Amino acid sequence: MSSRTSSDPHVVIVGGGFAGLTAARTLRHAPVRITLVDRHNHHVFQPLLYQVATAGLSSTNIAAPLRHILRRQGNATVLLADATGVDLRRRCLILRDGEMAYDFLILAAGATHSYFGHEEWSRHAPGLKTLDDAIDIRRRVLLAFEEAERETDEARRTEWLTFVVVGAGPTGVEMAGTLAEIARHTLRGEFRHIDPARARVILVEGTDRVLPPYSPKLSDKAQRQLEALGVAVFTSKMVTGVDATGVWLGEERIAARTIVWAAGVAASPIGRRLGVPVDRAGRVKVASDLTIPGHKEVFVVGDLALIEQDGRPVPGVAPAANQMGAHAARNVIRAVESQPLSAFRYVDKGSLATIGRRAGVAAIGRLQLWGAPAWLAWLAIHIFFLIGFRNRIVVMLDWALAYLTYQRHARLLLGPAPPLRSAEAEETRAEALGHSAH
Ligand SMILES: Cc1cc2nc3c(=O)[nH]c(=O)nc-3n(C[C@H](O)[C@H](O)[C@H](O)COP(=O)(O)OP(=O)(O)OC[C@H]3O[C@@H](n4cnc5c(N)ncnc54)[C@H](O)[C@@H]3O)c2cc1C
Repeated sequence: MSSRTSSDPHVVIVGGGFAGLTAARTLRHAPVRITLVDRHNHHVFQPLLYQVATAGLSSTNIAAPLRHILRRQGNATVLLADATGVDLRRRCLILRDGEMAYDFLILAAGATHSYFGHEEWSRHAPGLKTLDDAIDIRRRVLLAFEEAERETDEARRTEWLTFVVVGAGPTGVEMAGTLAEIARHTLRGEFRHIDPARARVILVEGTDRVLPPYSPKLSDKAQRQLEALGVAVFTSKMVTGVDATGVWLGEERIAARTIVWAAGVAASPIGRRLGVPVDRAGRVKVASDLTIPGHKEVFVVGDLALIEQDGRPVPGVAPAANQMGAHAARNVIRAVESQPLSAFRYVDKGSLATIGRRAGVAAIGRLQLWGAPAWLAWLAIHIFFLIGFRNRIVVMLDWALAYLTYQRHARLLLGPAPPLRSAEAEETRAEALGHSAH
């Protein structure tokens, strides 16, 4: 453990996600003082959020306190705070409740969901980005089955048993596949008035295939696996409206009480506030050394950064965020040693998506896998990368048990049961029925 003196350069890192945390760890032996600022007190392993949202894992399985992760790193301090902007001229990070001077700044504040200018949809169609989001979605899903069990009106019961996932990227595909599995298997035999297997899970995608970043062949394999699980896949359909009781796809309406948003991505707003060029999603255009124009002391990394390589943007995935975080940290060390900064190069190690039990797709170099081999590769890699979480073994055991029994153990609903049959829902339902026969 090394603690530093106050004359060491101060490196402020905003964000304790993949990029920020890797940057902090890469600097562990460097002659610098680090302050890691995050608005949450924990690091989340986002690729497994959908497991929390679908009651397969509990929050503590996929998240760990930042203080605990960095407890042995004497040159790092964790600060729970909300960063609202940067004063580039004064080299100051602006916090909601103060400010902090830096010698080097690494911005790694990530991204959030985008509702394409329709923020009002977020109330009815939560996105999946934080632990709070995952717990909210889990609650909505579990309560929908409870409401369906109590409902006597057939049309309303069907609405409660209809789940719409918007966006067929990896998150949407994982959510839809797992929801179908819950309905068909996990809840079997637990209700008396409904058959959970009758639930409809609908995956809506704007482009012409699921998993657009993958090859057309893997997209096709993924769609077949989803359909085998009972998911109805609607491609080339744009969502034009969302309310308390359903979604509109142009003139067509799907009545559904549970909607999950897995479509757009918008970079953290702090990027736009830098006053440097950003793309439409708000990602900051960085130079090859990951700094912003005119400021060799300010690095932007991870989902917040836009950098092109071989004519294509580096993807917003965890390995890219890790690699950028490590590279920015190494460039800080170079700067401290008065050496020139070096250019970043992303090494693509492949991509994987799971669809459900023993189903998935993987593209690793030229190798394309689907079905059980892809699922096994996904499982091994995700457990391996849960580094820093004391409960890797617990997760493995939980999954092994879930695999054998189809059970999902994180299904307890805490807090008072909310009145889901809100007046607003009844109003929008009546309105929608007036507009459409669907
Ligand atoms: C549901 C889901 C599933 C995914 N699945 C995969 C997958 O299977 N494989 C894969 O490779 N990638 C996956 N990704 C993408 C991957 O998680 C991201 O690319 C990665 O997390 C980006 O890392 P980051 O460090 O840039 O941002 P993040 O990990 O998002 O971290 C940003 C951090 O900044 C903090 N923060 C934000 N704003 C502020 C502020 N103003 N002040 C203080 N703190 C702030 C946040 O609290 C957070 O801790 C998934 C993402 C999601 C949401």
